Amino acid sequence: MRRLAGLGLAIVAACQSPESSSDSLASVPGSDFEGAAFEFEQVMDGVYQARGTGNVAVGSNAAVIINDDDVLLVDSHISPAAASALLSELAAITEKPVRYVVNTHFHFDHAHGNQIYPAEVEVIGHEFTREMLANGESVGRTYQGFQEAMARQPGYVEGQEGLVPTPPTTTLSERLTLHRGGREIRLLFFGRGHTGGDVVVHLPQERALITGDLLLPGVPFMGDGFPVDWVDTLEELKALPVEVVIPGHGAPFSDLSRIDALQSYLRDLWVRTTEARAAGLTPSEAAEQIDMSDHADDYPSITGPGVPLTAVTRMYELMGA
Ligand SMILES: [Zn+2]
Repeated sequence: MRRLAGLGLAIVAACQSPESSSDSLASVPGSDFEGAAFEFEQVMDGVYQARGTGNVAVGSNAAVIINDDDVLLVDSHISPAAASALLSELAAITEKPVRYVVNTHFHFDHAHGNQIYPAEVEVIGHEFTREMLANGESVGRTYQGFQEAMARQPGYVEGQEGLVPTPPTTTLSERLTLHRGGREIRLLFFGRGHTGGDVVVHLPQERALITGDLLLPGVPFMGDGFPVDWVDTLEELKALPVEVVIPGHGAPFSDLSRIDALQSYLRDLWVRTTEARAAGLTPSEAAEQIDMSDHADDYPSITGPGVPLTAVTRMYELMGA
């Protein structure tokens, strides 16, 4: 954040109470929370990051791109309630209608609000993302694995009521460009990474990149990832004109060396997991023993040996265990 000081960031708190919400919002399960669900950080003119306030579980951040006549949202959050709250609270920053929603990937915390959007709103994602949401993968292993932890977040359990995983209505395989008024919005797929279908949203004029979970300030979840491809996919991001990254979790950042940091982490974790497997360790033993402390400068949450079991399990799976 230090490096963003010159960008003139401002936080806009959405001050809407549940009383001011529409009847349709009130009828969405899990919507009866107090206060605002989101705060909006203006990253640049017409581009915001919407982050959860903690009053209700929203899962991921959204990016809000306000065009001349309409709005494009990136990601739809963890539940119909969270997505509805964003639509309602958007009034704090714009009155223009939401016309497009992009799913960066299929994970539940980014795509389980899709169902609230009416037919005139195009939900756009990679064809892999459509397949995953259509086949129930967004409520599969990863979703199940998070249920216990998520249940501790306010309103999460109630918000899952009536959930219908809903795939994108428009898909892309490599790229798609929207020209909305004076703004060019590029949806780009560079290869497998955090999932098999991560789309980044690039604003070339504004030099902004919205990365979903492909690139975060911290170490992303790796349970559905393709770590070897991921390193190459991240390399492609370096060719884009980018001054600010708006991630799916955490605050915007301008330090692009975080791309190198994640590549280095993924490479080293892959090598160390390969060694652990060759030494006959079970995934649990490997997850306990693998030491990534040499990456603690980049990822201060690393305080000693131990890596996520979901990452090791995934890597063993890819290695053919
Ligand atoms: Zn994800």
